Amino acid sequence: MLASVKQLQVVNSFAQLPPVFYTPLQPQVLSNPRLLHANVEVARLLGLSETALSSQDFLDVVSGVKPLPDGKTLAAVYSGHQFGVWAGQLGDGRAHLLGEVVGPGGNWELQLKGSGRTPYSRMGDGRAVLRSSVREYLASEAMAGLGIPTSRALALVVSDDPVYRETVETAAIVTRVSPSFVRFGSFEHWSSSPDNLRLLVDYVIDHFFPECRIEGGNPDDDILRFLRSVVRKTAQLVAHWQTVGFCHGVMNTDNMSILGLTIDYGPYGFMDAFQVNHICNHSDTQGRYAWNAQPSVANWNLYRLASSLLGLGLDAEALKGELAHFEADFLQTYQSNLCNKLGLRQWQPGDESLVDDWWGLLHGQRADFTLSFRELAVAPQQPAAFVAGFDDKSAAQAWLDRYTQRLDQEARPVSERIDQMNSVNPVYVLRNHLAQGAIEAAEKGDASEIDTLLKLLRDPYVEQAGYEAYAAKPPEHACQLEVSCSS
Ligand code: AMP
Ligand code: MG
Repeated sequence: MLASVKQLQVVNSFAQLPPVFYTPLQPQVLSNPRLLHANVEVARLLGLSETALSSQDFLDVVSGVKPLPDGKTLAAVYSGHQFGVWAGQLGDGRAHLLGEVVGPGGNWELQLKGSGRTPYSRMGDGRAVLRSSVREYLASEAMAGLGIPTSRALALVVSDDPVYRETVETAAIVTRVSPSFVRFGSFEHWSSSPDNLRLLVDYVIDHFFPECRIEGGNPDDDILRFLRSVVRKTAQLVAHWQTVGFCHGVMNTDNMSILGLTIDYGPYGFMDAFQVNHICNHSDTQGRYAWNAQPSVANWNLYRLASSLLGLGLDAEALKGELAHFEADFLQTYQSNLCNKLGLRQWQPGDESLVDDWWGLLHGQRADFTLSFRELAVAPQQPAAFVAGFDDKSAAQAWLDRYTQRLDQEARPVSERIDQMNSVNPVYVLRNHLAQGAIEAAEKGDASEIDTLLKLLRDPYVEQAGYEAYAAKPPEHACQLEVSCSS
């Protein structure tokens, strides 16, 4: 039975940590908050009925006017490395954790983003602009549609309040949903306070990695198993990002989920034209978080996490031993995803160069990431059309010949291969210009474009009649859209 807001069962596991981990406080309300969009799918995860989404109680909670019933509202502290440099204390500077809903299939923390200043706001105003809030709302649902681990989005609230960035924008609040918002930076924060660090490690292992506990064993081994698991989840996550052409944009350690989820959507981008060193964040002048740098940055971030665990007296060599699994973990998911995307049954020696040359071909042409994979399914049957798409026709023909020979080794029925490829190569991804269309409509109070995008992105592998424009490359004028850290 689906519940109303008042009937939700709410617990506060994170708030059971000692008070040094957070500050209890209420959000700062916005003027005239209005519900722009509510997500029925995520509501269902929480056990919330569809009718509850149009209630005043729901609006009050997702706009921060009233706490979640039985919830303890708080802002959490953490630290982090930003762009490779230790930044010291950060924390939820514009986010409020409302509590944890006991849903039908598990527990979900609800967190408001853009809900006002906290003791961790530093110079910030505690607000989030509607533009970025729409982008976060859509991206987390697009990721979920692709089957990639992510925080989710429950509601989007808009207001009359101005926010001052490069221009004057509108304040909004997104309600994000995740089993936990604990980050690598949460551990780094306590690297010199072993007692608190141990409390955090125990909390995270007990709640999210119970399989790492072995009764009667050495407790240090539980922590090593925990690190092993975080290495695996993080490596898998980045492999998924690479193979859908997603760039996170700000892979600082404070934006790295300890659960291996995509979190803190800022200046992210799903690539249109493929470029191996594509930088999606206009503020990332050095390209630290370029597409081809993401795996090594994730590995670097894991080193920062493991370094903080040294504070518990763990053996450095043992920690390094767990970190050393990163590359193999990454490759396992990366190769398996690429096998599926290329319609191969199994990765074989030689496939690495086939894939690298594929990337090279796409890079040379700045070919569209998503469409290139989607159209590859029929390329062996329609070689002329494939080759016509490239300026360097002989390189395209040479690659296609190798690919066709490789497929021939498997002697797989063509229609089976095409169906399988179409089930993993999306037609629709959240291209920047599509998000921009939804933002512009949202700024006029119109959520219909959000609805349209959610409909397509939830089922991104299935072509829908009448939505050809959403599958197409961006129009010329939209290729220059820039996103920055300003949000
Ligand atoms: P981000 O790069 O968005 O992950 O943010 C880094 C840090 O800055 C986090 O501690 C955020 O909470 C904080 N922050 C970002 N924007 C704001 C803002 N407008 N007001 C207060 N804090 C902010
Ligand atoms: Mg962040």
